[in-house]
Amino acid sequence: NRRIVLAAHPHGLPTVQDFRLETGPVPEPGPGQVLLRTLWLSLDPYMRNLMEPVGPGYAEPVPLGGTMVGGTVSRVVASRHPRYAAGDLVLAQAGWQDYALSDGGDLLPLGDVTPPSLALGGLGMPGFTAYVGLQDIGQPRPGETVVVAAATGAVGQVVGQLARLHGARAVGIAGGADKCRIAVEELGFDACLDRHDPQWPQHLAAACPDGIDVYFENVGGAVFDAVLPLLNPGARVPVCGFIAHYNDGAPPPGPDRLPKLTATLLVKRVRMQGFVILDHYGKRYEAFRREMGRWVADGRVRLREARIDGLERAPEAFVDLLRGRHVGKVVVRVAGG
Ligand code: NDP
Repeated sequence: NRRIVLAAHPHGLPTVQDFRLETGPVPEPGPGQVLLRTLWLSLDPYMRNLMEPVGPGYAEPVPLGGTMVGGTVSRVVASRHPRYAAGDLVLAQAGWQDYALSDGGDLLPLGDVTPPSLALGGLGMPGFTAYVGLQDIGQPRPGETVVVAAATGAVGQVVGQLARLHGARAVGIAGGADKCRIAVEELGFDACLDRHDPQWPQHLAAACPDGIDVYFENVGGAVFDAVLPLLNPGARVPVCGFIAHYNDGAPPPGPDRLPKLTATLLVKRVRMQGFVILDHYGKRYEAFRREMGRWVADGRVRLREARIDGLERAPEAFVDLLRGRHVGKVVVRVAGG
């Protein structure tokens, strides 16, 4: 059994040296347990927050020497659990390793998701995040303008397409001209701005002539600074993530921007609300899977993946994810298919 463990707490952007590949025997399932073979491993930004000595509050940090955590599509290879049989495909939390044991509590039957890796992306946690954050907090109305950064990423690509399904205009922000072309031509965004272009805040203003009604916050940092003056009265800001700051060791330098933020929230009656997707599972997740499954099947939502081959490449792929080097939801093919 190969597993990738946390070797060191990163300083700033993680490096591959912060991880270590270890090998050991394949574990044996005890009574009530199943043995899982990892087929696909999801890589997600939250994993960066679990590499710190102190966790983010919604999940425990990974201890030094501990296996990196992560959502997986896994196959049951041996079962001593009454509800699972060898051969079953499940959504699991097996982490960055070839094999894992589970008592079944963290497993969900995969259903007929094709290809199965989509259960880690648009038809799984990131898609559910876009769905809940946009519908509950963003509440886009026809003709409104919805802005989202990391627009071709796992969450952003779904936010843009759901905004369009609600009749809103979808404006994306992404790192690079290629990503912006994909956002518009493949994912149906009305416009997309390249955040590496020094003029992009002006381009954003031009792409939002009627202002911004919903800003789905994925990144923070310079993107938030550019969006803030464009928010319309009554704008909604679902706070989903702030990846621009996940590698910060200390508060960023520069002037204190809090008074400007507070004044904007007040004067423009903006509603800014954070959410953690873990709070929303249960019945709602089943409804999401059915609805999103239909949209994907009839082509109304397109899901783009970045597939990486081999567990041993997960550390490098994860660092690349944080640097914005992939297009689409990042998944690692660990075995078979
Ligand atoms: P992505 O697949 O979008 O990958 C991350 C992307 O972030 C990169 O591709 C890059 O896109 C962008 N990025 C990286 N650094 C910066 C920066 N300094 N400034 C602007 N953009 C940057 O990730 P996900 O879709 O999985 O996650 C998106 C956000 O949602 C994250 O903040 C994540 O933590 C959050 N999240 C929150 C959840 C919750 O429950 N609240 C659940 C799931 C995700 P590009 O180069 O194109 O700009």
